[in-house]
Amino acid sequence: MRQEERKTIHAAIIGAALFLLIQIFRTPLGNIQNEDLLLALYLIAGCCNIAFSFAIFAQGWLFFSDKLSKARLFTSALFLVVCIFDFLHTLSFVGISYVASFITPEQSLWVLTASRLASSLGILIIFSKEDEPVSVKSKKRVFGVSLLVIALTLTVLFLGESLIPGGKDYIWTDNLKHVADMAVLFIYLLGVGMIVYPGRVEKSASLLIIIRALIFFALGQVFFMNLFSVGETDYLLGMLCSGVAYYLMLTGVYRLTIEEPFHESRQAEARINYLAYHDDLTGLPNRRRLMQRVEELLRQDGKDKTGGFSALAIMNINHFKNINDSLGHFAGDQLLQLVALRILEEVQAGEQLFSMGADEFAFLMTGRSGTESCLLRAAELQRLFESPVSLESGEYHISLSLGVSIFPGDGETAEQLIQNADAAVHNAKEQGVEIRRYIPAMQMKAKERLKLENDLRRALERDEFYLVYQPQVQLETEEIVGMEALLRWNHPKRGMVSPVEFIPVAEESGLIVPIGEWVLRTACRQNKQWQLAGYRPICVSINLSMRQFLQPNLAGKIAAMLHDIGLDPGYVDLEITESMTLDKETAFEQLNRLKGLGVFISIDDFGTGYSSLHYLKNMPIDRLKIDRSFVSEVMEDSNNAAIVSTITSMAHHLKLKVTAEGVENKDQLQFLREQQCHEAQGYLFGKPLQAAEFEDSFLRPALGLPL
Ligand code: C2E
Ligand code: MG
Ligand code: MG
Repeated sequence: MRQEERKTIHAAIIGAALFLLIQIFRTPLGNIQNEDLLLALYLIAGCCNIAFSFAIFAQGWLFFSDKLSKARLFTSALFLVVCIFDFLHTLSFVGISYVASFITPEQSLWVLTASRLASSLGILIIFSKEDEPVSVKSKKRVFGVSLLVIALTLTVLFLGESLIPGGKDYIWTDNLKHVADMAVLFIYLLGVGMIVYPGRVEKSASLLIIIRALIFFALGQVFFMNLFSVGETDYLLGMLCSGVAYYLMLTGVYRLTIEEPFHESRQAEARINYLAYHDDLTGLPNRRRLMQRVEELLRQDGKDKTGGFSALAIMNINHFKNINDSLGHFAGDQLLQLVALRILEEVQAGEQLFSMGADEFAFLMTGRSGTESCLLRAAELQRLFESPVSLESGEYHISLSLGVSIFPGDGETAEQLIQNADAAVHNAKEQGVEIRRYIPAMQMKAKERLKLENDLRRALERDEFYLVYQPQVQLETEEIVGMEALLRWNHPKRGMVSPVEFIPVAEESGLIVPIGEWVLRTACRQNKQWQLAGYRPICVSINLSMRQFLQPNLAGKIAAMLHDIGLDPGYVDLEITESMTLDKETAFEQLNRLKGLGVFISIDDFGTGYSSLHYLKNMPIDRLKIDRSFVSEVMEDSNNAAIVSTITSMAHHLKLKVTAEGVENKDQLQFLREQQCHEAQGYLFGKPLQAAEFEDSFLRPALGLPL
């Protein structure tokens, strides 16, 4: 583009210099005395002009007529007019006998003026507007009009003398011609201005060529006008300049209407192709491209040129959702890019990395010696993430789960191989292992999961959920001080489904939000009912899921609900997990809003997540619940004992209450007492029970009421 601009400026300078030089060396040039040579040169120049203008016409009339644009069609029609005028002018001017017999030299010059007038006006009108497509149907009409223009102009010219009063008066016609020539010059220059100036910020290379053409048109016009001299040399120079101008027009129109749109459409095509086969975020080839590659490999029996085995490893970033939800999408995107980059740096010949969308990548390896080698390579990929990934907000340890399908063998089609690797990765996640190779039993699991989600969708309407309550006991007094509401799903065919099984599915599908609201409402209503029944008021603990916690209007919803039910917020305790506090700012805001309601906040399963003790100090929370995995082995494992005692003493230090979960025997209870743990929850005190049973077992006896 820059180069084209430079060329245009050069054209203007050369034009001006040429003109000046010719004016300076006018005398010797004017000395071409040989009339025949002059005429021969004039004829050659004229023929070139005719050829170029014919080419411009043919370009629109003959080629790619299905892709006509206004600029190309109108220029083509315009140059048909110009071509015929130039033809008549050249032949009559050099005195080709037959033509010259009915076109006088005077008329010949008028024909030339008409040609210039047509080209100047036409170019001005056509190129001062942005180009747009036009239907092929208008082609014949437009060329019809141009033929009509030719006929009309010639009629006027030939009848001119009789039509115009004083037509024979040469002074009059001379003046008229002079005015017309001046107008033509002005219009050419105006054309340059119109293209350079209005609204067209970015000048395409082709428009710059047209400007160059206009410069030469204008220069030619100056010669034709005999401004500075008389003599046929000027006409010859004028013809030469317009020859150059026509040639530039030809290339300009070609570039503008054929080459540039073609390039544009090629570029658009390339972009669409890129988008269709690549992931925008990471720039990696996507699932569609993977399908193609695997299909290709399958056509070769899964063996590449080297005859080795091929394998597909689908990789999923563990806990990506937590990072994405808590640190925000920007950090999530950044993490995905960094993961892609780290793997890409390790890609060897015969291997390729693909993005499968979200937090999933696919790694295709070929030329492996056998199954073992494929799995070893997969393990190598996993080890790439032993060192942390640096995001803007800090360093994060991440890990990948991998599912591998090897072919030939683990699937007949590309679709199947991908699905099977997918099933293997889900299985690896479920089992908490790092790598799994596909085995047929896994496909069943994937389908099963889909069915579970569908069933879960209907469970709320069909009233299949209910709550159970587990007592929380104050160790010092052995009094019941609270209860945890736990969700149960009684499926008509499956029977009881464990929350450990369905909560993650509900969480992933977003169903947890309405389900969680139902839990909140039901548990609070139950607590209020018990208070109304006259039992000593105690606190109900309700588990919140990540999605619920991330709702900006959660506090508002809870406030409205508590108001509805009429329950004092002081009898509600919300359990969140450490992972929900990862994005400190958002968590702080949400916790402050919730605390503002007057409810209590506990951190559930404490010790298993990755919360920072430093931040915990400033968090508006009331209680830590030590995860039952530590409590259950407190007597057998000194590590766990140390963890429990550290958490307890830290909680004391931070002035937080501490509750031990999963207390099953007296030894554990004794140990917890020694640590001055405040409260405990577990089978030792009571299993989770349905409302009526809970009331009978724990509430009535506490009041000393008979069962
Ligand atoms: P959690 O919140 O840590 O709940 C405590 C889990 O430990 C319950 O399992 C409870 O039955 C079990 N448990 C209590 N005492 C003992 C014991 O002495 N020994 C053993 N082995 N287990 C004990 P459950 O009801 O299966 O719930 C599992 C998890 O499901 C819960 O862990 C909680 O994270 C989630 N969950 C349950 N209900 C809800 C709910 O309404 N909403 C959400 N978001 N999550 C829920
Ligand atoms: Mg809980
Ligand atoms: Mg827990």
